[in-house]
Amino acid sequence: MELPNHVKRVLAALEAAGHEAWCVGGCVRDVLSGRKPEDWDIAASALPEETLAVFGSQALPTGLKHGTVTVKTEGGPVEVTTYRIDGAYQDHRRPESVTFTRSIDQDLARRDFTVNAMAWNPRGGLRDPWGGRADLEKKALRCVGDPDQRFQEDALRILRGLRFAAALGFSLEPGTAEALQGNREGLRDIAAERIQAEFFKLLPGKRAAEVLRGYPEVFGVFWPELLPMVGFGQRNRHHCYDVWEHTLHALAAVPGDPVLRCTVLLHDVGKPASFTLDEAGVGHFYGHPAVSRALADKMLRRLKCASGFRETVVRLVEWHDKDIPRTDRAIRRALRALGEEDLRRLILVKRADNLGQAPAYWGRQEELDKAEALLERLLAEDACVSLKRLAVKGGDLLALGLSGPAVGQALEELLGKVMDGALPNEREALLEDLQKTRAAEGKEEGT
Ligand code: ATP
Ligand code: MG
Repeated sequence: MELPNHVKRVLAALEAAGHEAWCVGGCVRDVLSGRKPEDWDIAASALPEETLAVFGSQALPTGLKHGTVTVKTEGGPVEVTTYRIDGAYQDHRRPESVTFTRSIDQDLARRDFTVNAMAWNPRGGLRDPWGGRADLEKKALRCVGDPDQRFQEDALRILRGLRFAAALGFSLEPGTAEALQGNREGLRDIAAERIQAEFFKLLPGKRAAEVLRGYPEVFGVFWPELLPMVGFGQRNRHHCYDVWEHTLHALAAVPGDPVLRCTVLLHDVGKPASFTLDEAGVGHFYGHPAVSRALADKMLRRLKCASGFRETVVRLVEWHDKDIPRTDRAIRRALRALGEEDLRRLILVKRADNLGQAPAYWGRQEELDKAEALLERLLAEDACVSLKRLAVKGGDLLALGLSGPAVGQALEELLGKVMDGALPNEREALLEDLQKTRAAEGKEEGT
């Protein structure tokens, strides 16, 4: 196994000071499966203060309570954590106290899954007391020890397990799968921020749709709003799937980005509550985007998502069902309302939504191709779609005697006219129009 030089140097420095040190966890798993690790974690027999002494000013005491010291290296920060045994678990959460140990095997035994419980260093090679390598080859996810007990100790492992399945393509070993389902209520005791972190690593995964399909009740513990979608028949010809299956097909058809995946997961969450059946026996979901939007907002707040992320998702949810006419004017207006980045996202969401419908309706993709081509053309022409590009600025209006909020208002009005194609984006024309409007308003006021 080839380690980067900066990692080798940290291991060597610890060994030179008489300690043991191993690469552990995700990095060993990733390297053995041919992936590039996100970060390199080291477990060491050295106590935190001993690690601090080895690295001097290079070391930062970032998590002393849990035995973690961060070593700054030319290749980036490396976390060195003292071998430990976790203390007693309470309320299905990570323990408050930890006990340090001098045994790497005890440290490996506290880890969640066998594929995450391997250690490697250049001197000792692979240390794998739990058969992680064999499981890795089978792509099997198995708890270290008794799965019931492990999920009871720390319910976050339930979501971590599903995250590894979705993102890395592991299959849950049957005993692990059963215990994961059976202990899902423990997630109620887990802090929203920790759930959020795992869930948004799960959602972009290649197999996220399969994992959502397999374990809706687990996600229903923190997002019960998802559950009415499962099996909810749509009763109209656009759809060959129930709401949940439609959602999962659409989710699989959108790129693995958290905003896009989350938007698609929630775009129809308001459908069950909006359902009506007409005399002909056809189902309708009038107003469902607004209902979805309100639910999505509540759900994302519950997970304490960043406000920027939440606002983007709920706006796209609200827009997902709007038709984007294939005209310059409509595209300009959408650009104005959403901005370039979100309009591009909206097109991807609409494509996915359509691909989750009955194949007879997949022809919509061509309409979206056209909308996209129009968008590209407008952007390439450097079309005026924001105040930044408007040919007059606030200063021009001040010079004409406008002041206060009237300036912003006048600029917005001019931009609206330019975007509608009523005026060219030229200074002279804009100022002339403004003066005309003001004169007309003045007359009205005078009468
Ligand atoms: P990633 O590639 O996303 O970093 P990872 O497996 O490295 O995945 P981390 O959260 O960085 O995940 O955790 C590092 C290691 O710590 C894991 O591989 C595992 O051995 C151990 N670990 C992390 N969280 C838990 C937990 N809740 N219970 C038991 N062991 C855990
Ligand atoms: Mg990691």
